[in-house]
Amino acid sequence: MAEASGLAVPGGEARPTVFAEISALALATGAANLGQGFPDADGPEWVRELAVQAIRDGINQYPAGRGSRALRGAIADHQRRHYGIELDPEREVLVTAGATEAIAATLLALVGPGDEVVTLEPFYDSHAASIAMSGAAHVTVPLAPNDGGFALDAEALDAAVGERTRVILLNTPHNPTGTVLTDAELAAVAAAARRVGALVVTDEVYEHLVFDGNVHTPIAALPGMFERTLTISSAGKSFSLTGWKIGWVSGPAELVDAVMAVKQFLTYSGGAPFQPAIARALTDGAGDIAELRGSLAARRDVLVSGLREVGFDAIVPGGTYFVCADATPFLGHETPDGAAFARALPAAIGVACIPVSAFCRSGSPTAEALANWVRFTFVKDEATIRTAIDRLRGLPRSG
Ligand SMILES: *Cc1c(COP(=O)(O)O)cnc(C)c1O
Repeated sequence: MAEASGLAVPGGEARPTVFAEISALALATGAANLGQGFPDADGPEWVRELAVQAIRDGINQYPAGRGSRALRGAIADHQRRHYGIELDPEREVLVTAGATEAIAATLLALVGPGDEVVTLEPFYDSHAASIAMSGAAHVTVPLAPNDGGFALDAEALDAAVGERTRVILLNTPHNPTGTVLTDAELAAVAAAARRVGALVVTDEVYEHLVFDGNVHTPIAALPGMFERTLTISSAGKSFSLTGWKIGWVSGPAELVDAVMAVKQFLTYSGGAPFQPAIARALTDGAGDIAELRGSLAARRDVLVSGLREVGFDAIVPGGTYFVCADATPFLGHETPDGAAFARALPAAIGVACIPVSAFCRSGSPTAEALANWVRFTFVKDEATIRTAIDRLRGLPRSG
């Protein structure tokens, strides 16, 4: 996953990310690792068995570049059933090596030097890396903590989106904040895109992992938005199969063709035996998704209430795998900010988390505003979460 890899930018050198650094510290110290966001339990056995069967059945050579017919059909069907979005599986759906490849291929296809790409800030790390690889400039709009949630600053959005904006790259439900953008926020993004003729690329890998009656709405389903939107998702998060790397991008045929033109020289195709398994999972896996959603909501509650008891100001996420919390009460001389705190925590008390500043541009106003914040994941078994909370109780409070 992108979180594990070194961020290599053109002209730069691959360096270990804070994710890799903290994972190594967590391993070395035996920490309860609430850092990196991947499940510690594999997805449905029946789906895994289908992939085993596909290997035995000889589905082991290059699949079609656009993805197997069965999977493209299942993706189109999924978008119609859940969101009322009609797709032609022959022209408007492309299977990719995870959402990560879809993001990279889409940005390489659509933007280049002289263009601007607008994202929320904080942002998922691979979004920034893909923008950098494309040569476009990265412009951000803060998601600021407010009233117990994180909200899009509509004025900042309007200021950020201008003549040079070629793409607004959205992510909802949002990693790292857990925010599910509201209909009003989506409408504001849609209006900004229309105002300047920008395209929207939307990363919806947590589309099914929303809690408390929150509803995920793809921006492509808003009036007049399908024709300017590419929607990206993946089986990894919905089915706890992150290592399979089956993702997809869908939207108008001309835009999908442009992505295909890049994708064919990134991986061409991949994941042959996983594709029929994910096709069936999308068609018949609603019960498995509901079960995951329920168990994640319960684990989220354990984590949020534990963090609050310990003294963190934790925000209740509407979706995703993540809780963000203000660690200010625990900062001091040795650990002046969230980054220093997250680096010290594994050795100090045996817990790992990620500083939110890792999802910000260094030195930006948002990085300053969230300098003391850290992200914990709850996609771990409940015992690990409880162990982490027990250990956090031992944290000395500063001042
Ligand atoms: C995990 C994640 C991805 C990566 O998806 P893959 O299918 O594993 O490539 C993309 N975007 C966000 C926001 C994620 O959290």
